[in-house]
Amino acid sequence: MPNQYLDVLRADLHPATRHHRATKLQCHVGNLVSAAAVVTGIGLLALSTACTSNPPAGDVARTPTTSATTTPPVTSTATRSRPQPSPSLPSASLPSAKTVYVFPIAGCKASASQSHHDYPASDIFAPVGCEFVSPVDGRVDEVTTVDRWNPKTNIGRDRGGLAVSVVGVDGVRYYGSHLSAITTGIKPGLQVRAGQRLGLTGNTGSARVTPPHLHFGISWPTPANHWWIRRGTVPPQPFLTAWRNGRQLSPAPTVLKTKRTYGPDTTCRSYC
Ligand SMILES: [Zn+2]
Repeated sequence: MPNQYLDVLRADLHPATRHHRATKLQCHVGNLVSAAAVVTGIGLLALSTACTSNPPAGDVARTPTTSATTTPPVTSTATRSRPQPSPSLPSASLPSAKTVYVFPIAGCKASASQSHHDYPASDIFAPVGCEFVSPVDGRVDEVTTVDRWNPKTNIGRDRGGLAVSVVGVDGVRYYGSHLSAITTGIKPGLQVRAGQRLGLTGNTGSARVTPPHLHFGISWPTPANHWWIRRGTVPPQPFLTAWRNGRQLSPAPTVLKTKRTYGPDTTCRSYC
């Protein structure tokens, strides 16, 4: 196993991400190490690629082993909903000096991939049951509460499994998927704070056949179900690194610039 990856696996979350949670989650570090062992032979890029690849023949669906929370998942019958279309990213949405960002996984060791297949995103590997928290103050955008992914069809819309997106006060949308549970009360339109729990990490959707991880995407807001934008349009790695180290680095300028150069958004362009 590459030493650099071992180092990442050993890295503790920065205290700035811990202080938001009073509850110590029971994490299965052994799972994480096993997950790393699985990919030793194929490298970090391949590890991130595994997030949404078709499953190998004969692979068995994994069952979440830990749900270290006292809060049950939402049992809403709606699979995707939100009250109104998201506004486009306003030019005046650049964050104020007071905007606070936190690493999106709290209470567990987590390792963020430095690349992603086909489009910008990061797969943050962590045991099942870790807290997925809002990286910034904002408003819940879309919530997917039912895992409809079918490995035989691998429909892009369904690859994320259980997922939550938040439009931050900075005008940027943040998306986390493959969750094992959505926190009770998390629904479209709800105002949330940086560090507030949105759900628990897991391996729903296409992560059913990979080590558990949080797929984390950064993008601009779109009308509902523009999943090809929602999954990520800007590399989140520099921001994840900054937040983990307690630096308040905003993706808003990069998102604005990328949106301008993206052109008309009519349909999915890659890995659809
Ligand atoms: Zn991914």
